Amino acid sequence: MDDETFRAWARRAADWSVDYLAGVGERPVRAQVAPGEIFRQLPPEPPAAGEAMEAIFADLDRVVMPGMTHWQHPRFFAYFPANASPPSLVAEFVTAALAAQCMLWQTSPAATELETRVMDWLRQMIGLPDGFSGVIQDSASGATLAALLTARERALGFTGNAKGLAGGPALRVYASEQVHSSVDKAVRIAGIGDANLVRIPVAGPLHGMDPGALDAAIRADREAGLRPAAIVACLGGTGIGACDPIEAVAAVARRHDVFLHVDAAWAGSAMICPEFRDLMRGAEQADSLVFNPHKWLFTHFDCSAHFVRDPKALTDTLGLRPSYLRTLGHDGVVDYNEWSIPLGRRFRALKLWFVIRSYGVEALRGMIRDHVAWARELAGLIEAEPDFELTSAPILSLFSFRFAPAGIDDLDALNARLVERINDDGRTYLTQTRHDGRFVIRFQVGQTTTTRADVMMAWDAVREIAAGLRAG
Ligand code: PLP
Repeated sequence: MDDETFRAWARRAADWSVDYLAGVGERPVRAQVAPGEIFRQLPPEPPAAGEAMEAIFADLDRVVMPGMTHWQHPRFFAYFPANASPPSLVAEFVTAALAAQCMLWQTSPAATELETRVMDWLRQMIGLPDGFSGVIQDSASGATLAALLTARERALGFTGNAKGLAGGPALRVYASEQVHSSVDKAVRIAGIGDANLVRIPVAGPLHGMDPGALDAAIRADREAGLRPAAIVACLGGTGIGACDPIEAVAAVARRHDVFLHVDAAWAGSAMICPEFRDLMRGAEQADSLVFNPHKWLFTHFDCSAHFVRDPKALTDTLGLRPSYLRTLGHDGVVDYNEWSIPLGRRFRALKLWFVIRSYGVEALRGMIRDHVAWARELAGLIEAEPDFELTSAPILSLFSFRFAPAGIDDLDALNARLVERINDDGRTYLTQTRHDGRFVIRFQVGQTTTTRADVMMAWDAVREIAAGLRAG
């Protein structure tokens, strides 16, 4: 492609993006295709000769777009958000143009140094004290794995990597049942073993783990000759937003000298608002914490902010320094690949830099405050609606509910049908979870362009569809 053709297509892609985002609210939120429908339209063999960009672009609209679920739709209330923004998109375009591989300081000093600086901005923004160092990971799953590998090595006196785990003591990791499955996965990949993930019961309105039960579990394990290695506390669990009492959990961790990792993948972004920081009290005593600006801080996937108290423990766990990766003549520079599982790294700091500078912290706070306020308002309306039940109160901008008209035995089946109908309808998109043994519908507010009117429109759609369901 020559420069002028590239320029024309880059402009076309920019125009397409602006038009797409301006009109995304008119589309059904969740893709309305059957499994295999897109695949069947794709030629089984690759083209031997190059095709015209015009044809490729036409197929983007014809073949691909019907199979897309619109995460930037203002009435996307499913899962957790992946709320992007125009400044982030512009930065991603520039990042793609640079196409830099930022594994070492010298493979792009600006990428490393910008990452160090914006991670420190983020640290200040969420109220973590000085003394934490930050790195941008590809995902919260990657950060939690890095944390548990570090915890494993710390518990083994940094001998596990060298000697392997065979014949060593059984390591134990503690978490409530409210943590995300990335914790289960990390325990598995770290070689700790599924059976050594100890579930601590939860209590109270925030469904947080019981610190007394945690303490008792660790003591019992020690007495049984097992080796407690890590506690994973959750700040905003995936199902219903559960928050562990981090301060009390941290006291247990300190008492037993056990590594504490905090998974704040979703809720961490809200910590930029000082009034929500009660939820993270004690996080300053953690060994590491992860949160995802790619969920709720208007920044494109992938961007996971991982803060660690002791970067040396992390790099002693993950850092390998073959001669071909040495930065000659610059000992002591930060090579972020040593902080992460993959070697290669995208230039992820640029989009954060664009977002934070372009909005400023106050505007970012304002958007998150609106999300929380609208979620609370809607939860109040649902609680007051006779045929509906609020099944978990809002924690930040997430709550759950279910349709519970009198005289229906199988409310789980009814609500499963309701979710399907809502998502087939297309005006909004909601997902489900199980809470207290029941099928419940989650509602989280967090999209960049969502307004209060969108939240209310979604509620109108839910009520209308539920009424139709009851009528048969
Ligand atoms: N932790 C929590 C609480 C989550 O909700 C999620 C995903 O939704 C994750 C971790 C995993 O995030 P990632 O996709 O960045 O690995």
